[in-house]
Amino acid sequence: MAKVYYSNDADMSYLNGKTVAIIGYGSQGHAHAQNLRDSGVNVVVGLRKGKSWDKAVQDGFDVKTVAEATQASDIIQILLPDEIQPDTYKNEIEPHLTEGKALFFAHGFNIHFKQIVPPDNVDVVLIAPKGPGHLVRRVYEEGFGVPALIAVEQDASGQAFEIGMAYANGIGATKAGVLKTTFKEETETDLFGEQTVLCGGVSELVKAGFETLTEAGYQPEIAYFECLHELKLIVDLMYEGGLTGMRYSISDTAEYGDYVSGRRVIGEASRKAMKEVLKEIQDGTFARNWINEHKSGRPNFNKMAQADKESQLEQVGRELRSMMSWINDKQTVKN
Ligand code: NDP
Ligand code: MG
Ligand code: MG
Repeated sequence: MAKVYYSNDADMSYLNGKTVAIIGYGSQGHAHAQNLRDSGVNVVVGLRKGKSWDKAVQDGFDVKTVAEATQASDIIQILLPDEIQPDTYKNEIEPHLTEGKALFFAHGFNIHFKQIVPPDNVDVVLIAPKGPGHLVRRVYEEGFGVPALIAVEQDASGQAFEIGMAYANGIGATKAGVLKTTFKEETETDLFGEQTVLCGGVSELVKAGFETLTEAGYQPEIAYFECLHELKLIVDLMYEGGLTGMRYSISDTAEYGDYVSGRRVIGEASRKAMKEVLKEIQDGTFARNWINEHKSGRPNFNKMAQADKESQLEQVGRELRSMMSWINDKQTVKN
């Protein structure tokens, strides 16, 4: 069983007299910065001039360039998009990453795939919330926390884990539980989860269901509700009570169909594909492809994003959601 740490295992005094630089003020950045500040931690925000800069200033933060923020801080948490991190690290962070500082990440990608290689004399720690940034903030404001993973890649200070736990406490994660892992395990499982289940798997399942119904002549609005809208309601039940809890709430007809048809849709072929995807994550093929795709201007990424944006599923969904005033788009759209 994984070891899970809670608030009692964290000692905020490890952050006494320390300044934390939050580099980036997007989904994760705004949440870490605001939660830490509300927990009494001294925070500066590191950015380039632009939308996020203005927002962080508006939210009352001391905003500096990435280089200045790194210089002024003891703990540097990099919350830039993963594909941007290596260049910004090389140009603006590394030159100011002096002995005794700690470099933090919310995802292990760049350390695990050696796109960032920090000097030996700094701590390298992962605090990865297992939830989107906007929930990390909202749940903290409600007095709770989003669970997180902690990993130490380099322990130059001898206190890297304790400093990491204090940070995790500061963002509220210890209220929900902090699991100890490694950069390798976090990176590989995070990529696998988002590709095969959470993002890739679910998106394609929704699309396939919607298209099967509409191609068979059913109304697209009905297909949308059936294959996308109701997904949230089912996932909420799973979140609260696992598969058993979800099956308790659905009808016996739905439950019987779940058992006999689910395994026909997600059968051997899907499991085989999952194993292939996992292998390409583990051997670095996925990372190499993504880094090259980004460096060459993202031609395939943009093409696929555009095609899905223009799909009938998305058009029908936009229309239907605009009629459902209680669905607050702001919470899920990245700032
Ligand atoms: P976002 O895309 O939401 O935010 C990125 C931020 O970086 C923005 O504030 C952006 O500002 C800023 N930025 C971009 N380029 C530069 C630059 N060259 N110099 C300075 N600032 C820049 O990122 P996420 O919060 O999604 O991801 C951050 C990290 O957190 C990643 O490692 C990700 O894997 C990890 N993570 C993310 C989760 C999530 O919920 N999204 C969940 C768990 C981990 P600007 O307005 O100027 O573009
Ligand atoms: Mg994830
Ligand atoms: Mg991820």
